[in-house]
Amino acid sequence: QPTPPASIGPWPRRPTRQVNIGGVPVGGGAPVVVQSMTNTDTADVASSVKQVAELWRAGSELVRLTVNTPEAAAAIPRIREKLLMMGIDVPLIGDFHYNGHQLLAAEPACAEALAKYRINPGNVGFGKKKDTQFAAIIEKAIEYGKPVRIGANWGSLDQALAARLMDENSQRAEPWDAGRVLREALIRSAVDSADRAVELGLPAERIVLSCKVSGVQELIAVYRDLAARCDYALHLGLTEAGIGSKGIVASAAALAVLLQEGIGDTIRISLTPEPGQPRTQEVVVAQELLQTTGQRAFTPMVTACPGCGRTTSTFFQELAKTVQEHVRAKMPEWRVSHPGAENLTLAVMGCVVNGPGESRHADIGISLPGTGEAPSAPVFVDGEKKVTLKGENIAAEFVALIDEYVET
Ligand code: SF4
Repeated sequence: QPTPPASIGPWPRRPTRQVNIGGVPVGGGAPVVVQSMTNTDTADVASSVKQVAELWRAGSELVRLTVNTPEAAAAIPRIREKLLMMGIDVPLIGDFHYNGHQLLAAEPACAEALAKYRINPGNVGFGKKKDTQFAAIIEKAIEYGKPVRIGANWGSLDQALAARLMDENSQRAEPWDAGRVLREALIRSAVDSADRAVELGLPAERIVLSCKVSGVQELIAVYRDLAARCDYALHLGLTEAGIGSKGIVASAAALAVLLQEGIGDTIRISLTPEPGQPRTQEVVVAQELLQTTGQRAFTPMVTACPGCGRTTSTFFQELAKTVQEHVRAKMPEWRVSHPGAENLTLAVMGCVVNGPGESRHADIGISLPGTGEAPSAPVFVDGEKKVTLKGENIAAEFVALIDEYVET
């Protein structure tokens, strides 16, 4: 087990080999990378380009697309080209199942345009029958100089391997429970496939592993074990996390524990968006998870109190939302013009009880008037009261003060 640090904060990152995915370093001490996946028909070039662009603008540093048909494989180089014409050089990952060996062989332009191939050892694993398919994909990765993610999944476990381990388990003096045998099958499927890929000639620095399950405790157990057994870079995520708040909480609960222990080099939050929520929600959740656990900073952090009977109206909630949306929208520009803006801390507080104190702790904060207080809102900058806002335009004036703070 890793050793916790003496001070608070995430534990030291687990040492791994670093993988370069289209210019984005993963593992080996690089910041934990946020990635996401499209849900468009990849063969529909216009829709896929639009969604990749949205995910990239939201902050996805790698974007995966399913490549399941000859039409999808043919679309990949066109998608890449259109994105580049839009100035979007985000590495694209091809998600292959069953027929990846055929698609990569038939579409060299697809093999070239992708920055990484993801394969599932449950359906192109290196069991007896599948070895040629697995080897064919690894050979393409070697030929085109691409990394590969070997992604085992609870829902598509290599059945032959699982059956063999069940048999072995029955011979044990003290048999494991069925869950442990399945976890072992998942880990062995990924690690043995990776070792086989290395034997075939793929450098270990071009391999990322994942073992996804849908239960929080199972995921933590599987990744702790996986991390102890190899030094490949690890892709972390709960598969089929669920819809809305359930998916967010489950993903955060599992990933926060592992990230805290230094395990995980790239993450994806596999969220089923609620109706009306954009696909980009999973990117925002991934960023917020990394930021709130102190792993990385993406957008100024807005501290807002929950509000209570002392807040006089919904103005307080509206201002907190306005400030959050404003800094999120400005970040792509600030990232270039004012690097470091992502480390700012902001506070929007509902009344005098905690308002001035919390606002003084932030880089810039506002304490709104609560019930019975004078209709004025002191603004604190770097711990000092700078100005008091009053009247109809408090929101616009506070947002302007944030912009001014970033500028100066
Ligand atoms: Fe309520 Fe004031 Fe605390 Fe906000 S700061 S929760 S308004 S008491």
